[in-house]
Amino acid sequence: MPELDFNSLVEEYLLAQQDEHPIKPRTFHCSELGYCPRKIYYKRFLQKKPDLKALKNFVLGDLIHEKLTQMLEFKYEEIESEGRIVLYLPREDIRFAGKFDDLVRVDNKEYLIEKKSTRSLLYITEPLYHHKIQLMFYMKALGLQEGYLVYIDKKSFDTSCFKLSFDPELFNQVLKKIIRIQKNIDEKRLPRKQPLGEWECNCCPYKEICAKNLNVGDEEWISMTD
Ligand code: SF4
Repeated sequence: MPELDFNSLVEEYLLAQQDEHPIKPRTFHCSELGYCPRKIYYKRFLQKKPDLKALKNFVLGDLIHEKLTQMLEFKYEEIESEGRIVLYLPREDIRFAGKFDDLVRVDNKEYLIEKKSTRSLLYITEPLYHHKIQLMFYMKALGLQEGYLVYIDKKSFDTSCFKLSFDPELFNQVLKKIIRIQKNIDEKRLPRKQPLGEWECNCCPYKEICAKNLNVGDEEWISMTD
């Protein structure tokens, strides 16, 4: 039997399974709406594949989420998982697309659940802004006034759950932000930097071009992205 190299096996598998997700024009994914406007803009012109570290993280997250859904199924009979939603703004011709995690029906009431795995629950003292926005858009699409964000600790499987109410003001703020970003995209105008924190820039795939304030079509942009 040949020597087994599990690290290579895992990496080979993850790279082979990597889905291509071409971004559709004038379409925004609910999970990206809370992020830095400049990052959302760059993504429309230059798609970067996640690195192996991120792929490993995704696969761990998926396994944890799957397990939690099984636990919900153990307790509740009526569950819809991974349901697709689309919200459309006809005047601006902008779409918001996404896939909610779980919708549990109990006694004619629906409970929307969005799961997030985390390195440690110690960092999660309140729901994170970008997760809140994502849930808000699912609530709007499903006509619900409430939803739950559940954080799961990757090491201990401890959970922390937050119940959120639909916030029309926050929802409208994000709508306006995305309409502005689409305008930036149409006019190829670089949006300002507005990261959620240092962490967003640290793990941003566009940090090099952003540091130089490069825009689509700039000479240096062309030479870096060719
Ligand atoms: S590096 Fe920071 S400011 Fe620049 S696009 Fe990325 S998240 Fe935004």
